[in-house]
Amino acid sequence: MTLATPGIHHVTSIVGDPQRDIDFYTTVLGLRLLKVTVNFDRPETYHLYFGDQHGTPGTILTTFPWPGDRQGTIGTGQITTTSFAIPEGSTGYWLERLMQHRVATHGPFRRFDEQVVRFQDPDGLVCELVSRPSETTTNVRNGTVEQTQAIIGFSGVTLASRQPERTAEVLTDLLGFRHMGESDRINRFVAGTSMLGSIVDLVVDAEGTQGTEGPGTVHHVAFRTRDDAEQLEWREQLIAAGMHVTEVRDRSYFKSIYFREPGGILFEIATDPPGFTLDEPLDQLATGIRLPPWYEDRRGEIEPGLKSIQLPSGITVP
Ligand code: ZN
Repeated sequence: MTLATPGIHHVTSIVGDPQRDIDFYTTVLGLRLLKVTVNFDRPETYHLYFGDQHGTPGTILTTFPWPGDRQGTIGTGQITTTSFAIPEGSTGYWLERLMQHRVATHGPFRRFDEQVVRFQDPDGLVCELVSRPSETTTNVRNGTVEQTQAIIGFSGVTLASRQPERTAEVLTDLLGFRHMGESDRINRFVAGTSMLGSIVDLVVDAEGTQGTEGPGTVHHVAFRTRDDAEQLEWREQLIAAGMHVTEVRDRSYFKSIYFREPGGILFEIATDPPGFTLDEPLDQLATGIRLPPWYEDRRGEIEPGLKSIQLPSGITVP
């Protein structure tokens, strides 16, 4: 193995109503809305991006709001939990904050010697806040969360693979994760040297029914790569290992390749550049609907089909 990812680039979940989604992740969790665009594969729907102030890889949660779609079910072959890192000592603050917003919490409990609080977002996605010794925090501007308590970025994700042994091999042999141990039926894998988005927890023996795609489920997890050239190397390496990998797809703010690992979970490898300032200045991110050049001439037919939403800036689009 020659390549190793430094960790998670982004996590993408399917949700229902876009306004409810924006309100929860900005107002309750204090993330910054980074970009409002459309799903490039389904341009009649939004694609929303949240994260820290700069949209740093490892902090980026993206959502596909598909209002009216049949609710998904969380199960095997999926990412079951998205975990955010919070500064050590802020757990009490978050328990109080979530309670004030009428979000039911479970915990705190300990896992791998870390303090964890679990809750669900309004669509039923399972999220966690994991207490971590503070790293550099670069967020948060538009929320009401104090800098010292704010979400740092991802801690990691939990996978319920249908073939855990083979998923473990993909993580270690192809993506460069290191196995850190087992606790409470979870095998923990760690990437890179940063604490940001570096953890993948793999359920040892995921039981139960297969998950179904829809609002309330995670669509995929993306892992970081440095640039376009390295992404092509990744692609060759994955193909050589027998994975069915897509062509490189231009997602404007990064480039992507996708493959479904043997346990049924959709993995992506995404480039760090160019990032969210490609088409808006940093202090004006998410102040309008941004379309890629190949959809810009269809703006007049796309926008009327999108639900009206109010952005944190107060602007209503479309
Ligand atoms: Zn993605």
